Amino acid sequence: MTDEPTTDEMPALRRCDTAGADAGHRWAGVDVKVYKPDGRDLFQDVTRQVLFSRPDLAGELRYFEVAPGGFTTLERHAHVHAVLILRGHGRALVGREVVRFGPHDLVTVPPMAWHQFRAAGDGPMGFLCMVDAVRDKPQLPTADDLATLRTDPAIAAFLLG
Ligand code: MN
Repeated sequence: MTDEPTTDEMPALRRCDTAGADAGHRWAGVDVKVYKPDGRDLFQDVTRQVLFSRPDLAGELRYFEVAPGGFTTLERHAHVHAVLILRGHGRALVGREVVRFGPHDLVTVPPMAWHQFRAAGDGPMGFLCMVDAVRDKPQLPTADDLATLRTDPAIAAFLLG
C-alpha cells in the first residue's frame, strides 16, 4: 500500500465546449455517440457522451443531448437513473407521472419505471445521467404495455409528443 497518487489515463481537466447557444455540449477527448434512427421511431435526435466510466467506480456518468422536439427511448429496467438537467426544458414520463423540468432540476427514475425524456421545441435539452456501471438491459414496451400506458390520458398525450 502506498499513499502516492496513481498515474491515470484520464486527464485532470477536460474542457467542455459550449460555444453557441444551439451548439451541442462537447467534452474534449470524449466520443459522441449518435443514436441512428432504425425505423422503429423508438427515439429521435439523441446523442450520448460517456463522461466517467472506469474500473474503480461503481457508477457511470453520461451526458445525453436531445435536439428540439426529440425524445429518448421509452424503456424500463431494474437499474435506476439519477438525472440532472443541464440545459433546456422538457417533459419526462417517470412511472405513471408526467413531469415538466428545466435547468438544474433533478429527476429520479426508480427500478422498473417506464421512462422517456422529451425536449421542448424551442431548443436543445441536455442532461447528466448517473447509472450503475454493471446494469441490466433496458426493456422496450410491448403493444400491451403501450395500451396500458395510454389508458392514462396524461400519458397518452405525452406519448403523442
Ligand atoms: Mn433508461
